[in-house]
Order: sequence, then structure tokens, then C-alpha cells
Amino acid sequence: MIHCEQVRFAYPGEAFVLGIEAFSVARGEAVALVGPSGCGKSTLMNLISGLLVPQSGAILVDGVEVNLFPLAARQRFRLGMIGLVPQNFELLDYLTVRENILLPFRLGAGGGIGDEARARCEELAERAGIASHLRKYPDQLSQGERQRAALCRGLVTAAPLILADEPTGNLDPENQDRIVSLMLEEAREIGATVLMITHDPLLLPRFDRTIDVPALRKGGVA
Ligand code: ADP
Ligand code: MG
Repeated sequence: MIHCEQVRFAYPGEAFVLGIEAFSVARGEAVALVGPSGCGKSTLMNLISGLLVPQSGAILVDGVEVNLFPLAARQRFRLGMIGLVPQNFELLDYLTVRENILLPFRLGAGGGIGDEARARCEELAERAGIASHLRKYPDQLSQGERQRAALCRGLVTAAPLILADEPTGNLDPENQDRIVSLMLEEAREIGATVLMITHDPLLLPRFDRTIDVPALRKGGVA
């Protein structure tokens, strides 16, 4: 589902360089991405989702070399292929929780917001325990509820690849467990591949495999 080869990325004017020789994630795998703060976990995830483009090398998602596409085509590909759960929720405060969860459809995924999309939103919100909050605004929710809303938004299109950037950060153990269980169960049901960044060693046994980003970089292209 994911293949990176000879990837080199640097932010303009920054000393940080992410160089990776090769790594792959198979279809249906659930992989935890670990490493100390600042080692490039989010950068790698943003390269895979096409939010960033490498200076050299190839990144393939579902066999497609996304970084060759122009911006609009990358965005379309991402909407159809990837469910994103960003690090700091990124819920829009002027939209209700329901509207936030349905946002990928509003942006054009799955042919827009229809009955099926609404039903999927209800079902996920129910499973995440936030069904009674759908008419509220994000600032009326607790931290854990906001994180679950962001997860529902990442899962709502049933995308084949789920990329989650520390979706359990700042949550109590009970909410952490709930988020990870919901994500992994949902992914298993639809056969989706999961890549999740986490700092928590207790969560690692829940995944098929752990990838250590500093180890990837050691074998990388400088
Ligand atoms: P992690 O997610 O592992 O904590 P990041 O991928 O966010 O690490 O960051 C890797 C390095 O790149 C850090 O040194 C960080 O300061 C730098 N960095 C991250 N985002 C940007 C950016 N938008 N512009 C410039 N430098 C950045
Ligand atoms: Mg990060």
C-alpha cells in the first residue's frame, strides 16, 4: 500500500534532512511509527499523504507515484485514498461536529454528502460514543470527545489507507484505548491499512509492526 524509495526531503532553509533508502507497508497492515520528538515522523506522514513533496525519490501509495501529480490531483487522490487524523484535531470551530465529520464528503470524496455518508457518520459517532454531540460545536466538547470526532472524520469515507498522527496524545488511558480500538477494528472491517504515529509503548502490541523512524533514516540517503 505504501512504498518509499531513495526519498530525500528538507524544509527550505532548515538543517533537518529526512533521507530514507526504502520502506514499505503492505495492504491491510497496522503499523506504529515511533521515534523521539523532531525525528521526522510527521514529516514522513505528510510526504506519504502528499501534503509535502520530496526533493528526490519516489513515494508510491497503492502503486501510484503521488509526488509526480500537480497539487489539485494530489488533493483529489488524497481525498479518495486516505483518511487523515491530524495531530491537533484540526476541527473547524464554526462547523458542528456532524459537519466536521462529513467534511471529506463536502470536499468531494465519495461523490459528496448523501444519505449513505450521513448514515456512516451516525454509525461511527455511535461507536465512538459521541452520537449525542453531533449538533454541538467543537468548543463544547471535551478533549477526548474532540479527538474522537477527528477520528470519525478520518474514518468516515472508509478510505483504504488511514494515517493518524498521534491521535492519542493528551488523552487519558481509557480514551487512548477507545481511540486505538475503534481505529483498528474499523480498519480490519474494511481491510484498510493503518499507519499511526505514537509515543506510547503500551499501544505498540496492538499493531502488526513498529517502524522506528531514526532507524529508517540511518539507512537513508543524506
Ligand atoms: P516529529 O513528528 O517526529 O516530532 P517533525 O517531522 O514534525 O518531527 O519535524 C522534524 C524536523 O523538521 C524538526 O526539526 C522540525 O523542527 C522540522 N520541521 C517540521 N515542520 C517544519 C516546517 N513546516 N518548516 C520547517 N521545519 C519544520
Ligand atoms: Mg509530529
